[in-house]
Amino acid sequence: MHKHRFILGTLSLLLFLGCGNLELATINSQPSNNTISYTSNPRSIENSTLNISEAKISEADEPLNIILLIGDGMGLSQVSASHYYGTGPSNFDRFNTIGLIKTSASSDLVTDSAASATAYSAGVQTYNGAIGVTKDSIAAKTIVEYAIEKGLSTGLIATSSLMHATPGSFYAHSKSRQFYEEIATFMPDSGVDFFAGGGQLFCAPRTDGRNIYDELKAKNYEVTLDSLPSVISNKKQAIILAPDGMPRMLDGRGDFLARATKLALKKLATNKKGFFLMVEGSQIDWGGHSNEAPYLITELIDFEKTIGVALDFAKSNKNTLVIVTADHETGGFTLSAEDGNYNVIEPRFSTKSHSATMVPVFSKGPGEKNFAGIYQNTSLFKKMMQALKLK
Ligand SMILES: [Zn+2]
Repeated sequence: MHKHRFILGTLSLLLFLGCGNLELATINSQPSNNTISYTSNPRSIENSTLNISEAKISEADEPLNIILLIGDGMGLSQVSASHYYGTGPSNFDRFNTIGLIKTSASSDLVTDSAASATAYSAGVQTYNGAIGVTKDSIAAKTIVEYAIEKGLSTGLIATSSLMHATPGSFYAHSKSRQFYEEIATFMPDSGVDFFAGGGQLFCAPRTDGRNIYDELKAKNYEVTLDSLPSVISNKKQAIILAPDGMPRMLDGRGDFLARATKLALKKLATNKKGFFLMVEGSQIDWGGHSNEAPYLITELIDFEKTIGVALDFAKSNKNTLVIVTADHETGGFTLSAEDGNYNVIEPRFSTKSHSATMVPVFSKGPGEKNFAGIYQNTSLFKKMMQALKLK
């Protein structure tokens, strides 16, 4: 019996090692053209197309509104942290339809937030650092621009600056995520009805002497720089509350993200034609980069509570589709057992950068089933465009 178990164990260990070595050998054997062979691999492209054509949407499955919540750097371990460190049931548990997203950029196997957000916002696989542009640096029309063209309302909320990679990719077009001032110049003419986040440093004073606040006001925006208003305005709203990113949860940001989301929903829901709202929990990623579990987990819980706001809205507004996903995983974060003690979780990191692991996507509402499966990040754009009948 004992011997039998040993043999079985050895066999499976050999099989495991064999597979592992095979994969390693494949990857290591071609380090120089790794990127080329990967991106030119037709399988990932075919799969994306297949998923889209398969995603036939019936009338009943068409939502009027989409709320897209992006947890920056939020892999499955980050999501799992909501079960172990959250207070009360996790809002992630309210979803029944779940999928996985492949995140590689055109330039790199491991994506950054700019390339991934551009895949979501404009449906193009592009290079790391690209803000709403193709891999040839040509402006790619975003879902926000399509939505505005069709008369829908739009909103963008982040706990980073509004010029940061994820929110920036939804309303701006820039060759580089580093060009914060250039990204800010897209705000006044964007037509976005509701902005909330940080980024005063890039509005005024600026190196080119322009004043983005004045330009926003000239385009019928109410500009708020001190605290989140409690009521909506008849004008479009640009709420810019911090010099750069918003404060960390650990430094007392409070429930900014949940309240901003509530306020945006109140405003956008007045449009009978529907709306598109993107909400980013930006700093889950920053906790991952700095390998600080308390930073990561407090940001994750804040984001998870905001998901509850979106789901509650969708509960009373049945024509609303809620999608929650991440742009990539950050930190190689794991909830490992403390050495020798399986009853104690010790969060650990394997990198200060991003990882190439797939990220989960959760969907709830009309057409939610079309967001299940495994697909490339660019397909999320196409699925959302189909759902809102924008293309
Ligand atoms: Zn990052």
